[in-house]
Amino acid sequence: MTITHHLDDATLLAFAAGTAGEAHSIVVAAHLSLCPTCRSKLRAAESIGGGLLASQAEAAVSDVCRAATLASLDAAPAKKHTPVPHGELPIALSRALGGKSLSDIKWHKKAPGVAMFDVPMPKGERTHLKLLRIGTGRTLPEHGHGGEELTLILKGSYSDHMGKFSPGDVADLDGDIEHQPIVDSAEDCICLVATEAPTKFKSFWARLAQPFVGI
Ligand SMILES: [Zn+2]
Repeated sequence: MTITHHLDDATLLAFAAGTAGEAHSIVVAAHLSLCPTCRSKLRAAESIGGGLLASQAEAAVSDVCRAATLASLDAAPAKKHTPVPHGELPIALSRALGGKSLSDIKWHKKAPGVAMFDVPMPKGERTHLKLLRIGTGRTLPEHGHGGEELTLILKGSYSDHMGKFSPGDVADLDGDIEHQPIVDSAEDCICLVATEAPTKFKSFWARLAQPFVGI
């Protein structure tokens, strides 16, 4: 797998600091599992964060607070990690899908050649995660985003004005960028997409269709 499109620094820093939303964190973790370049950038980001923490002034805590903290650590049950079968999928996505593989997904047809599956998120989560399956030769209407959109290509490929996106590549887009991806692979293109807000389609007709397409 040759990865040419990577996570941007702001996304990696937010992930390292634990401030990224759940959906974006899953896409970042999935890309990291495939990409040694971004893994080494993440280690650099984490060491910057560690340096910032170490430079903070120490704060005194009472004996009662210290004892209560240590006691709660002792009382915490050891977490059992049950291995999740993940087959062809990055483990972060496989966990979010409860161990399902792509062939188990119950796709919802949204438009000719476009199907979608909402990956369940914890209650109250502000970010959305979906799998999108787009048929070969299909064009999605030109659209912008109401917030950060992060897309990981899982199968197939598409091209837009930023180049060709193949398995493992991420499109890390902020709210201002508009793009019109065209699927150029012989097979369907399957992507994992994290969004902060519903996608905004540009053309009137596409906007009109948005409640039905739902992406
Ligand atoms: Zn990368």
